[in-house]
Amino acid sequence: MIARVSLEIALRKEFDYAIPPELTGAVDVGSRVQVPFGPRKILGVVTALAEESAHTNLKPILKIIGAQTLVTPKILKLARWIGEYYCCAPETALKSVLPEAVRKEDAGWRERLLVRVLPLVGDLPKLAKRQQEVWNIVEERREILLSELVALAETTAATVRKLEDHGLVSITSEISERDPYAHEHILPTQPLTLNAEQAVAFGKIIAAIKHGEDGGLKIGNGARAPSSILHPQSSTFLLHGVTGSGKTEIYLQAIAHALEQGKGAIVLVPEISLTPQTVERFKARFSSGPLQTLVAVLHSHLSAGERHDEWHKIRQGRARIVIGARSAIFAPVEPLGLIIVDEEHEHTYKQEETPRYHARDVAIVRGQMESAVVVLGSATPSLESFYNCQQGKYTLLELRDRVDNQKMPRVRVVDMRQAARGEKGIPIFSPQLKEAMTQRLERGEQTILFLNRRGFSTSLQCPKCGYVAECPNCSISLTFHRQEQKLCCHICNHVERVPPVCPNEKCKNPAIRYAGTGTQRVEETLAKLFPQARIKRMDADTMKRKEDYRRVLGDFKAGKIDILVGTQMIAKGLHFPNVTLVGIIYADMALHQPDFRASERTFQLLTQVAGRAGRGDVEGEVFVQAFTPFHPAIQFARRHDFAGFYAQETEFREQLKYPPFSRVALLTLKGRNEEKVIFSADHLRRDLEKEQPNFKDLVIAGPAPAPLLKAETFYRHQIMLRTRQMTKLSARLAKLTSELVLPEDVTLAVDIDPVNLG
Ligand code: ADP
Ligand code: ZN
Repeated sequence: MIARVSLEIALRKEFDYAIPPELTGAVDVGSRVQVPFGPRKILGVVTALAEESAHTNLKPILKIIGAQTLVTPKILKLARWIGEYYCCAPETALKSVLPEAVRKEDAGWRERLLVRVLPLVGDLPKLAKRQQEVWNIVEERREILLSELVALAETTAATVRKLEDHGLVSITSEISERDPYAHEHILPTQPLTLNAEQAVAFGKIIAAIKHGEDGGLKIGNGARAPSSILHPQSSTFLLHGVTGSGKTEIYLQAIAHALEQGKGAIVLVPEISLTPQTVERFKARFSSGPLQTLVAVLHSHLSAGERHDEWHKIRQGRARIVIGARSAIFAPVEPLGLIIVDEEHEHTYKQEETPRYHARDVAIVRGQMESAVVVLGSATPSLESFYNCQQGKYTLLELRDRVDNQKMPRVRVVDMRQAARGEKGIPIFSPQLKEAMTQRLERGEQTILFLNRRGFSTSLQCPKCGYVAECPNCSISLTFHRQEQKLCCHICNHVERVPPVCPNEKCKNPAIRYAGTGTQRVEETLAKLFPQARIKRMDADTMKRKEDYRRVLGDFKAGKIDILVGTQMIAKGLHFPNVTLVGIIYADMALHQPDFRASERTFQLLTQVAGRAGRGDVEGEVFVQAFTPFHPAIQFARRHDFAGFYAQETEFREQLKYPPFSRVALLTLKGRNEEKVIFSADHLRRDLEKEQPNFKDLVIAGPAPAPLLKAETFYRHQIMLRTRQMTKLSARLAKLTSELVLPEDVTLAVDIDPVNLG
């Protein structure tokens, strides 16, 4: 027997190896193995077994990693699809389906030493004083970790070993699982009685799960699955409902149904909403009763060991439910009955490095391949998903009201052009928002202020000569961080000291000043405005460790904070009944980005942030400060009118043939020498033009400088392709780019269905 192995180096090629006699029967498709490659030892995955090879003198597999095959045939197939559709090396796609902690050669369970009391034979021997003290503890506990005992008894392992010599205890090595939620106390919950709209949605979802049992859609072997993303069957649902409309309760009950059918489930949530509260809700429902199962959690804040253990709980079938961020879509749940993608419109589902997959789209493909039902949930669905409903590809399920029948918050749009009149510079707070905050402080209610920009100011400018402090590596201005007295680049993290005078030799003006506002400035201005108020800031600068996030949210919930200022981080998923006011400092900031999704993003963000207000007994109020108050994205968000926004926005997209009316491939050429980059881009464009006759609708735009022309010392130029036939285009691009000869210091990145056009 020989094994075909995909190595962890992107060679776009598989290699044959002999299976040595001692490993016969142990190597299977999906086994992770170590093999010799030239002078090196390399890890890889077995993709096929065969009787013979076209090559002679095969080298043998050196060893197998892990007790079980790590990549199941279904995940292998999914990885192949990712490689093809997202135009990356199959090895790279395959690598991404296993967490690093599982892939490693020495990956393993943590072994710990456990001290156990042995049955006493005869009388207790005479012990030294120290030994006696240790014995007292062990005898009472019966079983204790050696490390814990040593700490508790303030002793050494040697003393404990003495007890072992006396035959009083045994010290054995045990596998101990690292459970990231071990210290949480979880109270079981029962399913709630669904309201009428929930019941309808639930009924349709579970009917589809039943249907899946008899096989569902059949997909041929390997590579031919890609078109499924373009032609999904009706087992994909879009659950459209505002926050608090009861979506999560439907997820929980649908998962219960899948478990009853003997199937497992994957729940994807954006990293940012993987709060302990979210995880707890899922754990609590399945912590007892006939459907009891472990709920595995996968996200980036886990330690490598925790991730290893969580993943293996899934692989061993002990955890039937997985909740996690993007990469949890590759969890080896089998058989898989249900995939939930909550907040499906979130851009964090797209991986911004190779393989540049979109977890929501991968979920749909995986659902197809494994006949699992896919439920996408959102209060502000992506235009793509809503369009797919209108095309009859997905089934739309709507929840129109909040479960508690609470009113949506009242949204007031404040025209900042008015507020700016007669002021020096742009004010941070309009008089209306100031007044509203004063009221909340008097009434002991809480306020959330949102600004999606950290730091103190957006730039350091000289009012005399116009000098702006820019990053030497990137084409953006540096942000001033006041506490640290530093200028920072938010792209490459370059840091500079603040110059005491304008660095322009001819100017040297000492009165350089800070323009624009970041969260630090909001916090500082607030402190001056309301000296008594308890204010906290939540952004990437203050939330360095995972405990920070928990602590601040805990304090906020406990009413120890009056005003919470933050970025994106506070926009979603949080539920605080005492928050009755939300202020959005500059609502139109995202509108002026050179991106066809700028309006959609603004609409989504405003709707999400506004949803933070009024989740208790008191009606909420939202102040949206904007310089373009009549922009449709702002006005539709003000009226909570998704349908209106959708209708208007799709008209624009259709005219310009942007998604959902086409698919986009973004080709970015990067290099330190801009001339070479431009030359290569022009050359690539000519190659692409030759493809045009093969497509009905291929649009080639560019090359043009990327919105962020220079990042981390690299110049970037882009070509944007648009077509409805993306599967076909991906295949052509794979061929074309592999044949493309680029100057040594120019690289090409291909991004299929990009969400970040930067
Ligand atoms: P969403 O996921 O849409 O934000 P949730 O499922 O979290 O909504 O529901 C919001 C709140 O309403 C939660 O506290 C939930 O427990 C409660 N809830 C949901 N469905 C029902 C129901 N049918 N009856 C009573 N309470 C419900
Ligand atoms: Zn930079």
